[in-house]
Amino acid sequence: MKIEHIREKIIATSLKMLSDQLTNGTAGNISIYDRSENLIAITPSGIPYSLLKPEDVSVVDLDGNLIEGKTPSSELEMHLMLYRNRNNINAVIHGHTKYSTAIACLRKNLPAIDYMIAVTGDKEVRCANYASYGTKELAENCFNTMRNSRACLLANHGITTAGEDIEIAYNVLTQVEYISSLYLLSSSVGEPVIIEDEEIYNMIERFKDYGKKIK
Ligand code: 13P
Ligand code: ZN
Repeated sequence: MKIEHIREKIIATSLKMLSDQLTNGTAGNISIYDRSENLIAITPSGIPYSLLKPEDVSVVDLDGNLIEGKTPSSELEMHLMLYRNRNNINAVIHGHTKYSTAIACLRKNLPAIDYMIAVTGDKEVRCANYASYGTKELAENCFNTMRNSRACLLANHGITTAGEDIEIAYNVLTQVEYISSLYLLSSSVGEPVIIEDEEIYNMIERFKDYGKKIK
């Protein structure tokens, strides 16, 4: 995918994230890493998604040097740390969601109460310790807490997901938000039952083939 196409994809995904209520206002950020060009396209900082033009989308290198576009997201380091250290991650989404952030406000991990948590590649979504937005400390907390998973909650802030491509990162965001809503709903009437680790690890294996049959 050429960088111009990637910039358009970032805008389309940002608008979808907003209309799907997976973020609000100017909160959240999205990036895609073009490994062939060694360039990252990321939403610029603090600009309403509806006003974004492709040329506004920031293009940076792996050290965060601005190549083109407006000032990159304040969470750039959170995105770059994942790209530098995990060679299967090519897209990162940070959202200020409602339900998963509610769990992050409790500073709790989201347990496996629905088998779809397996899309994260892990049996739970851990919550990273609080740090101020836009800091290296927050980036490190996110990276260290996420480990090899595709998702991580950010205490009193939001959620970050990562994927082999933007569709995977977006699906993880959608699923974690839905499971978070189920967790809060079921917790309001009782104690939700957590699926056994072995079953989730089986699901993670099965998901490696899921949806690839018609390609
Ligand atoms: P940016 O507009 O700088 O991306 O910041 C939004 C945000 O969510 C900070 O955590
Ligand atoms: Zn944020």
